Amino acid sequence: MSEVHIYPVYKEIAAKAHINDEQYREMYQHSVVNPEGFWREHGQVVDWIQPYTKVKNTSFDTGHVSIKWFEDGVLNVSANCIDRHLASRGDQVAIIWEGDDPADDATLTYNELHQQVCQFANALKSQGIRKGDVVCLYMPMVAEAAVAMLACTRIGAVHTIVFGGFSPEALAGRITDSDAKVVVTADEGIRGGRAVPLKKNVDAALANEEVTSVEKVIVFKRTGAEVAWDDDRDVWWHETTAVASTHCEPEPMNAEDPMFILYTSGSTGKPKGVLHTTGGYLVYATMTFKYVFDYHDGDIYWCTADVGWITGHSYLVYGPLSNGATTILFEGVPNYPSTSRMSEVVDKHGVNILYTAPTAIRALMAKGDQAIEGTERSTLRILGSVGEPINPEAWEWYHRTIGNSFCPIVDTWWQTETGGILITPLPGATELKPGSATRPFFGVQPALVDNIGNIIDGEAEGNLVMLDSWPGQMRTLWGDHERFEQTYFSTFKGMYFTGDGARRDEDGYYWITGRVDDVLNVSGHRMGTAEIESALVAFDKIAEAAVVGVPHDIKGQAIYAYITLNAGEIPSAELHKEVKEWVRKEIGPIATPDFLHWTDALPKTRSGKIMRRILRKIATGDTGTLGDTSTLADPSVVEKLIAEKQQVL
Ligand code: ATP
Ligand code: MG
Repeated sequence: MSEVHIYPVYKEIAAKAHINDEQYREMYQHSVVNPEGFWREHGQVVDWIQPYTKVKNTSFDTGHVSIKWFEDGVLNVSANCIDRHLASRGDQVAIIWEGDDPADDATLTYNELHQQVCQFANALKSQGIRKGDVVCLYMPMVAEAAVAMLACTRIGAVHTIVFGGFSPEALAGRITDSDAKVVVTADEGIRGGRAVPLKKNVDAALANEEVTSVEKVIVFKRTGAEVAWDDDRDVWWHETTAVASTHCEPEPMNAEDPMFILYTSGSTGKPKGVLHTTGGYLVYATMTFKYVFDYHDGDIYWCTADVGWITGHSYLVYGPLSNGATTILFEGVPNYPSTSRMSEVVDKHGVNILYTAPTAIRALMAKGDQAIEGTERSTLRILGSVGEPINPEAWEWYHRTIGNSFCPIVDTWWQTETGGILITPLPGATELKPGSATRPFFGVQPALVDNIGNIIDGEAEGNLVMLDSWPGQMRTLWGDHERFEQTYFSTFKGMYFTGDGARRDEDGYYWITGRVDDVLNVSGHRMGTAEIESALVAFDKIAEAAVVGVPHDIKGQAIYAYITLNAGEIPSAELHKEVKEWVRKEIGPIATPDFLHWTDALPKTRSGKIMRRILRKIATGDTGTLGDTSTLADPSVVEKLIAEKQQVL
């Protein structure tokens, strides 16, 4: 491994940070020695209608997994995200909406948000929605998406958001599994200059005869496009809210009442409906937002995630609003209409905290300084990354180019299932090592285990598990508790298995090595994908890389690397040789790729994660059964890769 560059905590950040290193260590210790006492105190980050007396009641025992937090407390999420701020900051902007077209933007103050949420909550009621009913949101990135989420929580409806880029089939599957009674959508969405026919997709999904639960479709008018209309079923958002009262009492919810279902992306088989409940989720989202992003009053915060992902739930809407922050909701994509769009939005709104994904960072990095052309980004204080391991090269670029070399980067590791961030630096407390998510958040107890579940201490590499519960943990898979236990608690008895591999270094820092399903085994050496890919990305002409294993008679597996070059670079025999030598030098002969596949694009999920499962099939020529490709952002990439494979050496 090439040498690790350590970034000490910045003095200016530490001076005003909520937590310094000493406090982190002390609080962390307290949180794991006495979780009950720790969370009894920190459960107070939200307001309770009826305070809890019980704090933690959790068991990871295989066969009897049960997770309850603050179980006798009563609260309401929308009251925490809106009402409790009205007296002190009613006129402060809660949501800045930035349109796909740079000329389009709007703001909503907390007072305005309150009014809109109450009206839409009443509109939902008038369409027959009651506490416990499921509402499916299939929305573009408009402020009304957040309004709809909060309105559901106000009346105790359970939302399930389906990413607006998903197909009618994917939507139908999620509606059927969740039993949603109402779908909220828009005539069309707009992303990167292109219209997305949302209403048409809903019509197609509901035409499927297996979809029987939906009674009403509420349609927000975004573009004014002509849409088909069913008078008995379809309702315009503006019409139903126009007649709705602006008063709506928040429904008192038990801490363990369901709050939302979110289907995870990426894997094969039936989608998994991850269920989060009210109290623990909100406590955890609220607290992690405050400390991980070192949020202070007045900060302008921008998370680029879509509301259809867990990041869009916890760190675009609930965490920020529960803290009374100003959050930016961006309709577009980071490189439209120009490569510098992301930087332009930062300057336009004076963003202090920016949270985005490695896929976006690598795409911008491939364009070099074009990504910051004409911008200053001087308001930025903290940068964040989520979704995949961030390659050290991309980390350095993000730090230097977007962050002008003075913003700490919080590389946050977590999952849909975890509800909030589990492993992360804290800006005022943690020395940074590019590529490492560093240390656990308060109350989080990660461990590494070997393949038969023995805990390995000290410097080690293994399967990443959690030994105990945290408030934001998922409670079950919707309607299938057995699959929940099977998926997460049966591989290693009595532990939550994340599905990821990790390495822990001499300072106790965690380095996520990738999904264990993607691990390579070359001549008996197990290697995560992240390390080899990072070495490739560190080569100055390479923009992005993905490696998979292919069967090999002698080594067991050979390394097959897919490589995307920076703008303007072209593949050659010379480059082929240089790249192989580079990896040999960076990691060692064992990691040298056997095959290099030059390509323009990699298959990614809609949230931007590289789908190695499909790359493995293409590399081995097993393309008859690619499995579920419905969550791919651009399915045409696959055919292109299959065609290119002929030329791979
Ligand atoms: P599915 O479980 O359906 O395959 P998914 O795992 O892609 O979908 P998410 O819950 O959004 O869905 O992603 C969580 C996963 O993303 C983690 O398990 C990990 O593999 C990866 N990940 C997220 N953040 C980081 C990070 N900071 N560093 C490394 N990996 C990360
Ligand atoms: Mg996952």
